[in-house]
Amino acid sequence: MSTKTGTIVANWKMNMNLQHMHDFFHQLKMPSQNKHRVLIAPQAPLLVPLKEQSTKHHIGLASQNCSSETKGAYTGEISADVLSSIGVEFVILGHSERRQYFGEKEDILSKKIHQALLSNLKVIYCIGESLEQREKNALSETLTLQLSALKSITEKSWWEKVVIAYEPVWAIGTGKVATTEQVKEVHDFLQKTIMTMFNLKSCPPIIYGGSVNAENAQSLFTLDSVSGFLVGGASLKAHDFARICSVQ
Ligand code: PEP
Repeated sequence: MSTKTGTIVANWKMNMNLQHMHDFFHQLKMPSQNKHRVLIAPQAPLLVPLKEQSTKHHIGLASQNCSSETKGAYTGEISADVLSSIGVEFVILGHSERRQYFGEKEDILSKKIHQALLSNLKVIYCIGESLEQREKNALSETLTLQLSALKSITEKSWWEKVVIAYEPVWAIGTGKVATTEQVKEVHDFLQKTIMTMFNLKSCPPIIYGGSVNAENAQSLFTLDSVSGFLVGGASLKAHDFARICSVQ
């Protein structure tokens, strides 16, 4: 049996209300010897009620976003500080849906990363290319630009609090999972690029996201460079999510 441990994150996006959350935990049967770090990112108002349930299952809390500002007159925003104060461990930043629908680019993401780390949150930083960018041979250029947002990691020790999520946009919610060869190629590229760009001796964990499900998770997890998953659709079903968490 492999001793590899990973980080597995459920991104519930704008799904699941309070009742759905209770149903999910009622049905959830986590693997008895779960060795992975498992997190759920619900809609923000569910973070507190989710904590009561998730602690019993050794599941941590992640937020789907945080503000780029520290505090003050920013109606509707959620500060990294308030997330940290209620026991949230991670924040997902740079998700392609935030980039696409809310116009988040490297400058704002860089500030959010900084705010999160200053408030003692860990960061799952998402990057990934569109199909058009891949077909135009702009894969490395796109990912390198997205990685530039990490320049706001100004303390060496903060790197231990960072997880990179490689999520090809064409594989998110489409059922089109990247092949193990494609994932290996990009993860290897990212490892080298991140270490060179930021002068690091080792690379933060890189997790994969994009139509991961109970059927394909195991073969992806056998890749050395895949340190876990960011899961959208398949994380809404307790049974499927538990199966993904049982990867060895
Ligand atoms: C995601 O939203 O990060 C994601 C990977 O979604 P899905 O698993 O549904 O493709």
